[in-house]
Amino acid sequence: MLVLERREQLGGACTLERPFADRRYLISPCAYVVGLLDKLVVDELELGRHGYRVTPADPNLWCPLPGGGSFAQFLERGRTTAYLREQGFADREIEGLFAYEEAFERCRRALRYGPAGDTWRSPSPDRDEVERMLGDEELISIVFEESIAETLDRYIGDERIKHALFGQGLIGTFAGPRDAGTASIKLMHHQGDLLGLGSVWGFVEGGMGRVSFAIAQAALEAGAEIAAGVPVARIRPGEGVELESGEGVRARVVVCNADPKRLLAMLGDSDAVPGDYRERLERWDTESPVMKLNLALGRMPSFPAAVGTGVEAHRAMVTVTPGLDAAQEAVAACRRGEPALGFAELYFQSAYDDSVVPPGREVMSVFAQYAPYALAAGDWDSRREELADAVIDAVAVHAPDIRDCIEEAQVLGPPDIERRIGLTGGHIFQGEALPRQMWDRRLEAATPVEGLYLCGAATHPGGSVIGLNGRIAAMRVLERERDPVLEIG
Ligand SMILES: Cc1cc2nc3c(=O)[nH]c(=O)nc-3n(C[C@H](O)[C@H](O)[C@H](O)COP(=O)(O)OP(=O)(O)OC[C@H]3O[C@@H](n4cnc5c(N)ncnc54)[C@H](O)[C@@H]3O)c2cc1C
Repeated sequence: MLVLERREQLGGACTLERPFADRRYLISPCAYVVGLLDKLVVDELELGRHGYRVTPADPNLWCPLPGGGSFAQFLERGRTTAYLREQGFADREIEGLFAYEEAFERCRRALRYGPAGDTWRSPSPDRDEVERMLGDEELISIVFEESIAETLDRYIGDERIKHALFGQGLIGTFAGPRDAGTASIKLMHHQGDLLGLGSVWGFVEGGMGRVSFAIAQAALEAGAEIAAGVPVARIRPGEGVELESGEGVRARVVVCNADPKRLLAMLGDSDAVPGDYRERLERWDTESPVMKLNLALGRMPSFPAAVGTGVEAHRAMVTVTPGLDAAQEAVAACRRGEPALGFAELYFQSAYDDSVVPPGREVMSVFAQYAPYALAAGDWDSRREELADAVIDAVAVHAPDIRDCIEEAQVLGPPDIERRIGLTGGHIFQGEALPRQMWDRRLEAATPVEGLYLCGAATHPGGSVIGLNGRIAAMRVLERERDPVLEIG
């Protein structure tokens, strides 16, 4: 097994960098929290022994509300209830919140722990099979049809709760909260089981790259060779690959986790690619509205809405939004090439892990939507700082002293993510994760091209740091091939 990685560093979108003048800051430039990494992969590869440690964020979500007050979801249900009562939410609404979460729990149980087994650990079932497993019109609608606004409306009357929660249906998708299919985005992010706690997200000690590096260690220990800074130029089905250096590497089996557009480019006009498969890859949607800011902070900003609540906002994943209607308008603006903030999530790794900062310093990341790849006016190089500033303005609504805290900033728009990580369109999941590109509409590990397999985020079960895409690919290769394997990326 020979792994060829284009960049000098390993990990793709799940890596570590030292982008700031003060090299003691260790940044997770893209992926920043873990929640879907599968226990089977953690156990089989003994990632704990290779340095993987995680602390769940608690509260898992905190959101300052327009007009004052805040919303929080803790790991313990009782704490959530007490907090929301304290914040003046009616018991009926708190029950609605739990019933809303339970609908996603029912989907999770049916799809991952049902009698037919775990749909994430094997090639995708087709839609009929998924519908049979769900066995309920409401759940089928969540998985394939409805918007996150519709799901919220069914359970919750209080607009403040909707305000805090609709963003979970938007992560990484080029769609607004009233657009069909966004309920499934929340579901995708809800199907993990972190540390046996169910669907929660946490911080990896030392940063997200530790997940990739632990996997690399496990691979090395098992006898794989890893070569970084070695871009592949061409895949020659059945023969191997040609490197950009011109050198050829022979292998009957190639496993690729570069995204589908890059894969197409590497296949060139090879006759081995059936026309319908080529068309499928050509049509694959990689348009992304995501912008990421990574900030070195002299100190933590203060959130007035958290004062007196007993919650330290920095220990939560913090949602900041101008509201559901504004988010819907923001995605429409983004489709016209105009950036507009609809939803942002803030993360403070140093609240849990001071190994990533110099003594006394802090870090904050902002994951923000909606920022178009192609701007209607100007370009990213001339507008990057202005666009970052608009995101900081949105944060400043709730953390007024944020600007006094920032020492250095890294700003990544879709073209930056594309250029640096190699993800076409800057798409964080190697392609849209709405139902039209999920389940059996996501790509399969086994391709119709001789000796070619896929193992990246464009394959089932989808994008995020999951580990199962690679495992499914490995199992498919073991089922079908006996010769040595070569992985790209
Ligand atoms: C901004 C951002 C935020 C995210 N946040 C989170 C998060 O918080 N939690 C989470 O779980 N997920 C998150 N994700 C998604 C997650 O990081 C990805 O889904 C996951 O890392 C995908 O892994 P992958 O194996 O598909 O490879 P990718 O990370 O897509 O990497 C592909 C690799 O292939 C290499 N490659 C491409 N072309 C070639 C070539 N020709 N030759 C050799 N190598 C090549 C690239 O250099 C790259 O290393 C985020 C992603 C981004 C971009």
